[in-house]
Amino acid sequence: MFAEILTIGDELLTGNTIDSNSAFIAQKLTEKGYWVRRKTTVGDDVEEIKSAVREILKRGPEVLVISGGLGPTHDDVTMLAVAEALGRRFVLCEPCLERIRDFYRRLYEEGYIDDPELNEGRKKMAYLPEGAEPLENTEGAAPGAYIEHEGVKIFVLPGMPREMKAMLEREVLPRLCEREFIQKKLLAEITDESKLAPLLIEALERFNVRIHSSPKGFGKYIGIIIFGESEEEIERAKAFLEGRGIRFEEGW
Ligand code: ATP
Ligand code: MG
Repeated sequence: MFAEILTIGDELLTGNTIDSNSAFIAQKLTEKGYWVRRKTTVGDDVEEIKSAVREILKRGPEVLVISGGLGPTHDDVTMLAVAEALGRRFVLCEPCLERIRDFYRRLYEEGYIDDPELNEGRKKMAYLPEGAEPLENTEGAAPGAYIEHEGVKIFVLPGMPREMKAMLEREVLPRLCEREFIQKKLLAEITDESKLAPLLIEALERFNVRIHSSPKGFGKYIGIIIFGESEEEIERAKAFLEGRGIRFEEGW
């Protein structure tokens, strides 16, 4: 079950904003049992977004999560680019328009903005690729979108971290299949990563697991994470390493 993440925004490419969204999304997908195989970042440009989406679809992930560029300004072009990349029309979602109208009316009544009317920028956020299911944005105006396209589940989320996180938790994760927890963090009692290396290679050959090793910089321990299809397979790989003289402590 592999997944890809696409983050969009010029500010991510200039380094003015650190792409914390992709790390958050990756963490949640990993916890769900997905293998995030690639993360891509492009600017707020229709052609760049289209070509990134098409390349990703060619690789055929089970899930693609896209974030950024759903707002009302001229540089928020993600939904349009996704529609074009999928060869779908860009159509008005009436319930989304109503929600956006209510959203700005409420902000106006609460005194945050001085104009409750639906201007072009606000209306623009109500357009989605044809056939998309709108995803509710509890923290902002722009709806997200869920599109099943040629076997790929595509989720389009806002860039604002607060909005993205809420939508991911409420709308995306419940739509993904439930899998057993499949990563185990261990501390290996060994001073030198290079001594661990041949043992890890052997474990990878014998068992259906992936192993990530990261020196923690505190003395004799090396942090490792074993990812696997099941708890049993992870335990078998761990037992094998123990049989080769590695002592483990749980967690780090
Ligand atoms: P909104 O509807 O709120 O305008 P949007 O979908 O248009 O959202 P962006 O314009 O892409 O989102 O970004 C809104 C804010 O979120 C910006 O301050 C931006 O720096 C921040 N942001 C965008 N993408 C990321 C990311 N990948 N990681 C962290 N912050 C991000
Ligand atoms: Mg924006």
